Amino acid sequence: MASINENYLKLQAGYLFPEIGRRVKEYTTANPDKKVIRMGIGDVTQPLSPAIVKAFHEGVDEMAHAATFRGYGPEQGYEFLREAIAENDYQALGVNIQAGDIFISDGSKCDTGNIQEIFGSDNIIAVGDPVYPVYVDTTVMSGKTGNISKEGYFEGIVYMPCTEANGFVPEIPQQKVDLIFLCYPNNPTGTVASKEELKKWVDYALAKHCIILYDAAYQAFITEEGIPHSIYEIEGAEKCAIEFRSFSKTAGFTGTRCAFTVIPDGVHAYDKNGKAYPVKPLWNRRHTTKFNGVSYPVQKAAAAVYSEEGKKEVAEIIAYYMENARLMRESLIAAGYTVFGGVNAPYVWVKTKNGLSSWEFFDKVLHEANVVGTPGSGFGPSGEGYFRFSAFADRANVIEAMERIQQLQ
Ligand SMILES: *Cc1c(COP(=O)(O)O)cnc(C)c1O
Repeated sequence: MASINENYLKLQAGYLFPEIGRRVKEYTTANPDKKVIRMGIGDVTQPLSPAIVKAFHEGVDEMAHAATFRGYGPEQGYEFLREAIAENDYQALGVNIQAGDIFISDGSKCDTGNIQEIFGSDNIIAVGDPVYPVYVDTTVMSGKTGNISKEGYFEGIVYMPCTEANGFVPEIPQQKVDLIFLCYPNNPTGTVASKEELKKWVDYALAKHCIILYDAAYQAFITEEGIPHSIYEIEGAEKCAIEFRSFSKTAGFTGTRCAFTVIPDGVHAYDKNGKAYPVKPLWNRRHTTKFNGVSYPVQKAAAAVYSEEGKKEVAEIIAYYMENARLMRESLIAAGYTVFGGVNAPYVWVKTKNGLSSWEFFDKVLHEANVVGTPGSGFGPSGEGYFRFSAFADRANVIEAMERIQQLQ
């Protein structure tokens, strides 16, 4: 008799986005004449840029001829892409990351989930609250938690509130933790962490032999000087941090799929006798056993992000989204809302007015302004009373949506 992994039974049945979909459908069915503007889901809307499409096509053409055809590539990714990443994303920042530290994959969602496999099941995981749900759900699947409480917290995970009071960068937890997920620029709050704030975390991780799992999926959206793009800009991070990056938001690859994980040689974890092991060979073993590489044309397309034209085009698309974010911020502030984020990230995190809950505000905005956002409480209990608007949208829609929200009573 086959038995199931009962940890899956602990998961809440993908509550947030299906519930949004249900409420939107109910409203649009009852009001078919209303034009509903969707600013809820964190997916890009602009197409791949010309330099990227050209490289993508060239990659496909090479696959069409015997002389240039390629079968399996290296599981870790082609050298041309790993070199381009090391040079442009790291060495250009003065950070000593080499091509050999980089593992190309088909997504950061998978990587941030899969990374847990190489660590013992006795590790205590710390996450921000609110949080990108993948870190929590994969921790539950791996059997490191108990059940979820009434308040929405899984027993066994250390939740670190990210609030207005701490500037959305959590305090070091009181209890022992081993693996710490940090995400900056942050989804969902759109806020960033300064070098000083990250230094505090790196020092803590070094002192306690923990590992920071740093998700930098939105680093390309940083517009202000001095905000770290990589955890490795912090001294000592090369000994205690793994970084996840993705072409999804940076270059519109959500449907094309390419990302990477960085593991420097200095990052170690321990066996039960306290003996240290470098983590990179473990991930290499996992990656080469369970993954067979990203398709060649996709890696060609990703490498084009670092070409001269690619960089220029990608920067223009990011500037388009960030102009949306600016318009959203300013309109919402003018309408009397307290607003966070949206300066170095494509998300604007809005405090509801008059003490409305996140879902009450969702219904009000849907029914009275015909705009869809994401209730903050869906990202964790500390998100209650907040609402996320995504800047991944068409400009005309952003302007219209903001006009409608300004007219809300
Ligand atoms: C979108 C996103 C990613 C990227 O995921 P992919 O699987 O690479 O598309 C990673 N982390 C966060 C927080 C995200 O919002």
